[in-house]
Amino acid sequence: MTLPVLDSASEPTPAPVDDARRHLLDVSQQELTQWLVEQGQPAFRAKQIIHWVFQRRVTDFDQMSDLPKSLRQQLAESFRILVTRQSAATESSDGTDKLLVSLPDGGEVECVLLRDGTRRSICISSQVGCAMGCVFCASGLDGVDRNLTTGEILEQMLLLQSRLGEGERLSHIVMMGMGEPLANLDRVLGALDVARSSDGLGISPRRITISTVGLPPAIDRLANSGVPYNLAVSLHAPNDELRSELVPINQKIGIDAVLDAADRYFDSSGRRLTFEYVLLGDVNDSDESARQLVKLLRHRRVLLNVIPYNPVTGLPYVTPSKRSIANFRQILESGGVNVKFRQRKGSDIDAACGQLRRNRASSEK
Ligand code: SAH
Repeated sequence: MTLPVLDSASEPTPAPVDDARRHLLDVSQQELTQWLVEQGQPAFRAKQIIHWVFQRRVTDFDQMSDLPKSLRQQLAESFRILVTRQSAATESSDGTDKLLVSLPDGGEVECVLLRDGTRRSICISSQVGCAMGCVFCASGLDGVDRNLTTGEILEQMLLLQSRLGEGERLSHIVMMGMGEPLANLDRVLGALDVARSSDGLGISPRRITISTVGLPPAIDRLANSGVPYNLAVSLHAPNDELRSELVPINQKIGIDAVLDAADRYFDSSGRRLTFEYVLLGDVNDSDESARQLVKLLRHRRVLLNVIPYNPVTGLPYVTPSKRSIANFRQILESGGVNVKFRQRKGSDIDAACGQLRRNRASSEK
């Protein structure tokens, strides 16, 4: 399969890998402030720089016109603003843009911009590959290479933001791209700190969702961070036997421990929980599965997001029939579960996580 490669000519050329300058987006505001003070600059310059990069979308220090010229030069000698490169972009007819992003060490991740009414949501990756091994997912088929840095996570947000036209503004972030965000929690939280700060992207944590396979100790750490992010837990099965088959990490954890951690997150954050359930034809879409789900979720204040499977080349799973989807929905609704059936967006551009990278890799072989 060939994918259209857009805009590559207009992309800034990334600095070579042996460039000794630091990645600006990997430097916390506190560290940047300290560096500025060491250069004899007032601390408020850090806010100015962050504002230029995230709000004014400037990627060259020289354009930061309210900084002294000598400081702009010093900054350019010490820091790089962008280290990644957009290696492919696909645009779906429904307004979904998907980018393949090349990292300085040659790794690749995906990120997506979704347009829905006035909503502009971005779906961001947290790792190169994934170690969780969910059997239906394209991201983890080759395991995990490494965690993304805070700067690499932020850079995806900037690349997607730069695709917005006049009058469009980023409104929501979902950490639902490649990787398991709770397996790279510190870097993810560092990036989200910038995303929600008023000099950064200014997006309220109520509009930021972290999606997890369900790692209880990390869910507790997230709760302790005290920031009320939305938590989405990928459940995909109503019992341990089936869940361990679909989500192998479950063998070591178990549904009860995942639900207990989710309940604790709800207690401490006050945020309604979301559970995700990828509906796989003839695998987890039976009446019995729906009834078991009702039992698990009926007494919890949750939203169940059911996502009809987005087929992955080479994997044996299929999207359920319309009839089966309607039947599943009917059992959950009459059982009193608050359920939403998510529309598939961008399926014509491989928008399910990990698919673009994979299809590119196989078309290049
Ligand atoms: N590791 C995290 C976040 C990344 S996956 C997690 O497990 O939640 C984000 C969501 O997309 C998960 O619910 C995942 O199961 C789902 N997903 C993965 N591949 C899919 C596919 N081919 N079709 C539909 N949903 C998929």
